[in-house]
Amino acid sequence: MKRAGGAQGPTAQLRVLATTDLHAHLMAHDYFTDRPSRTAGLVWTASLIRRLRAGSDNTVLFDNGDFLQGNPMSDWVAANPTALADAAHPMIAAMNALGYDAGTLGNHEFNYGLEFLAEALRGATFPVVSANTLDEAGQPLVRPYVVLDRKISDDDGASWPVGIGVIGLAPPQIALWERISLGDRIGTRDILATARELVPRMKAEGADVIVALCHSGIGAERAEPGMENAAVPLAAVEGIDAIVTGHTHQVFPGPAWAEGGAIDPAGLLHGKPAVMAGYHGSHLGVIDLSLFREDGRWRVTEGASLAVPIADRQDPVVRRDPAVMAIGRGVHRRVLAEIRKPLGETTVPLQSFFSLVGPDACLQLVADAQRARAVEALAGTAYAGLPLLSAVAPFKTGGRAGPDNYVDIPPGTLVQRHVSELYPYPNGFCVLVIRGTDVALWLERSVSLFHRLVPGVMDQPLIDPGFPGYNFDMLDGAEYVVDPTRPARTDASGRVLDAGAQRIVALMIGGRALDKDETVLVATNGYRAGGGGGFAAAISGTVVHKDALSTREVVLDHIRRTSPVAPVACPTWRFADNPGTGAWFDSGRGAGAHATGAIYLGDTEELFRRYRIAF
Ligand code: MN
Ligand code: MG
Repeated sequence: MKRAGGAQGPTAQLRVLATTDLHAHLMAHDYFTDRPSRTAGLVWTASLIRRLRAGSDNTVLFDNGDFLQGNPMSDWVAANPTALADAAHPMIAAMNALGYDAGTLGNHEFNYGLEFLAEALRGATFPVVSANTLDEAGQPLVRPYVVLDRKISDDDGASWPVGIGVIGLAPPQIALWERISLGDRIGTRDILATARELVPRMKAEGADVIVALCHSGIGAERAEPGMENAAVPLAAVEGIDAIVTGHTHQVFPGPAWAEGGAIDPAGLLHGKPAVMAGYHGSHLGVIDLSLFREDGRWRVTEGASLAVPIADRQDPVVRRDPAVMAIGRGVHRRVLAEIRKPLGETTVPLQSFFSLVGPDACLQLVADAQRARAVEALAGTAYAGLPLLSAVAPFKTGGRAGPDNYVDIPPGTLVQRHVSELYPYPNGFCVLVIRGTDVALWLERSVSLFHRLVPGVMDQPLIDPGFPGYNFDMLDGAEYVVDPTRPARTDASGRVLDAGAQRIVALMIGGRALDKDETVLVATNGYRAGGGGGFAAAISGTVVHKDALSTREVVLDHIRRTSPVAPVACPTWRFADNPGTGAWFDSGRGAGAHATGAIYLGDTEELFRRYRIAF
């Protein structure tokens, strides 16, 4: 990549700006908590876009996917498709106004169906590329890549043509995650195989510089077939000059990354500049490329990257962008009216501060709603008499989203937005029939959330921070004991580490031991039924009911019908007794009012409240 010694010729600078995982966070408002936000919203990021454009003569702006889904605004638009008349989807309209040069599809672009997606993309005045998401005939759903024919000013001010190739890549797991909702209508290909095939074509079609819009995270360095987070091996693909990564909602470059191997925390993957701009518009990704011209083509000599935060800075330039505000304002008002509509009442607090360490009322409410719906749907069918489990996972359990990322609803009036807090995703509701052996495997996958504990030690971490709470399924209707001193079956991503692992001890159903050969119903969602989250046990089940309602609508309906709700946590699971053994875990800022049986140890640097439990 280095310029040949002594060669003379024009040089130029190209700045790539990128957003990722905006998840419909257009306005500076958190609709889940109904509070203004200083850490999310394209209205903030837009002012950084304008400022960083001013710092370079040659700038392109890309979005890296997961822009259409993710909050009550996106749900409102999907539920009211005619309300906007012929105006573009507000996210698309904002991206048009900001002059995006290209975008790509993330996994969440498919959540509202293919027709909704196609309609939204029709409003875009910029190309949206995705090379490895396919239709039922195996053809790309949208154009796989684009070579933007642009002018670039060199360092002496002369103008030249430049071909900027942009290829889009997304996790091939989309086909599994959307299997229940889209079936054969969507297919995918391996990220690396797709890139290796198409990058030479882009070069042949005039791409001087190639930027990969990789809606995939910085994961393992070694290439594996079908890998979900493939940014590192992708960077090694010859011909790719810069990588925009995302999907895992992290920030790169940044201090959280360890030096070593192919990852340089200063912003390089395999020596090539790469960036991951957080999520919800929290950061703007910047990649600066130095080019020189040789043999009639531009080549990249070097690059540097930066993820610029919108918050935590004393910067009067970071303001809410008036043009983007104006685009979002109308829908924003309607969404606010919607989320504030009263639904019913709860007589108990609904909170998720301790959802990872025992059953609680919050998850119970969702489990009860799913159970009621499943019973109703299967009444009179051959499945009606089978044991029924209701699979529920906590969606808000701190993690990367911070110490306020918990459900915290006081007793009193429940409004629409509370249901979005209890169930943020637009997953379809469905019921599976699975074998008894798979019930145990389902749970083994869930409880791999816990680190393996050393017996007799009190000061050790309980929870694997890489394991998302939404993959910690509790199976309401069963009763089981979890022993984290035993080895885990899987790692955080779902890869099997120990096929014989048995942390679940004493698994009961309806007061008796579960028979491994019996068949059991599981009320769950389409993401899980498609194997999402590495639940092989769910894939092997058969879908016996696919609901017209989303799970969130099921919960909403349940609250309306049964208000005032007063969910009481069933004793579904507990930790095995291990005298002299304990472990610590982190919870949210509001946890203090709800701690029972956990000892408060103090606050962490990130303002989580740290607790210890003894077994
Ligand atoms: Mn995302
Ligand atoms: Mg994603």
